[in-house]
Amino acid sequence: MTRYFTDYAWLGGDQVSDRVLIEVDGDRITAVSAGQDRPADAVHLPGVTLPGMANSHSHAFHRALRGRTHRGGGTFWTWREDMYTVAGRLDPDSYHALARAVYAEMALAGITCVGEFHYVHHTPDGTPYPESNALGEALIAAAADAGIRITLLDTCYLTGGFGAELQGPQVRFTDGSAARWADRVERLSASTHARIGAAIHSVRAVPADQLGTVAGWAEGHGAPLHFHMSEQRAENDACMAAHGCTPTQLLSEHGALGSLSTAVHATHLTDDDIAALAGSRTYVCMTPTTERDLADGIGPARDLANAGGPLTLGSDSNAIVDIFEEARGMELDERLRTERRGHWLASDLLRAATSDGHASLGWPEAGRLEPGGLADFITVGLDSVRMAGWDSATLLESVVFAANSPDVSNVVVGGRRVVEQRRHTLVDDVPAALGDSIRAVLG
Ligand SMILES: [Zn+2]
Repeated sequence: MTRYFTDYAWLGGDQVSDRVLIEVDGDRITAVSAGQDRPADAVHLPGVTLPGMANSHSHAFHRALRGRTHRGGGTFWTWREDMYTVAGRLDPDSYHALARAVYAEMALAGITCVGEFHYVHHTPDGTPYPESNALGEALIAAAADAGIRITLLDTCYLTGGFGAELQGPQVRFTDGSAARWADRVERLSASTHARIGAAIHSVRAVPADQLGTVAGWAEGHGAPLHFHMSEQRAENDACMAAHGCTPTQLLSEHGALGSLSTAVHATHLTDDDIAALAGSRTYVCMTPTTERDLADGIGPARDLANAGGPLTLGSDSNAIVDIFEEARGMELDERLRTERRGHWLASDLLRAATSDGHASLGWPEAGRLEPGGLADFITVGLDSVRMAGWDSATLLESVVFAANSPDVSNVVVGGRRVVEQRRHTLVDDVPAALGDSIRAVLG
């Protein structure tokens, strides 16, 4: 058993508790108690300790585009061409190296669980690898090497648009049919740090008559089901032209909404869409830094929450890996939209980043500092210029509105210390690992 003593901890209310002792046995928390004296044998975590953060939507390989797509203009659709160039170059070894480095960057940022929305399945000409899940297995191994949990959201991707053929690198994404997608996914297996979920890339990429197969697989396995949805108005318009309804309505008709489902983006919704998502308890994953980077628009996060829908957060394109920035981004975008302040409490935003995020990825036993929960927690140091001047009464607000990834000083995942005093314990030099693996992929 290991005992951790932290100056402050967030135990779920709208204030921090002070002098908190967290006892860990194996990979579980066995006791949490506030107002304690520091025991001589306890590991001291100076700062404020939070549950580990869930990054509910990631494409690890997009990390290679950081900076490179930020010169000049364009749209989501021109950005996608650059992204496809990288997708066309991945192989199991190069993707393992890149993802290991990206997940190590996430660990340094206090992310203890990633939802990897994975759709590059096959060789560049579309034929399967001898081991049909070589790329998915590379991602699972990369998360293990970086010391974090992963839900591999294996993604069904069959068409290049409504009734459109696949083009270029898209041939790597398809299994030919949802039934063959399900056969391949059956061969993936979960482990201590990894769980398997399903994803529908979008209503553009999976024909309506195949949606039910993917949704049925997820339901039959009690697995999370994620999908990109209504990120762009063009997708809504094309769906309306093809099916006479919105993407939300189409996914609802085919059984894809529900309390283990997550709609990613949900930027352009009708009032009926909002009611359908919230009424079915479907999570909506907001990715504010990516949505602003790709000029997607501002999603109706507060309207969804008002209707009772749960929200989660993701780094998506990994142009920025910082869940604090995603959390305050959701609030600050809403301020710009409404010209009013204060739409969420800091604790609400942290809940999206922790317990709700984990639940949406199929880890309901993570994301809370409580006995019986997984021993996944992070500590934010209070010794940086960003946090200087903090006050314990408003410490949660300081964390959510001022902290950045580099303020995360310690990370514990499953009882193992993955980051100690801002250094990754498993990946020696994370910047070098990122630089080397990105150069290898870009050629
Ligand atoms: Zn995405």
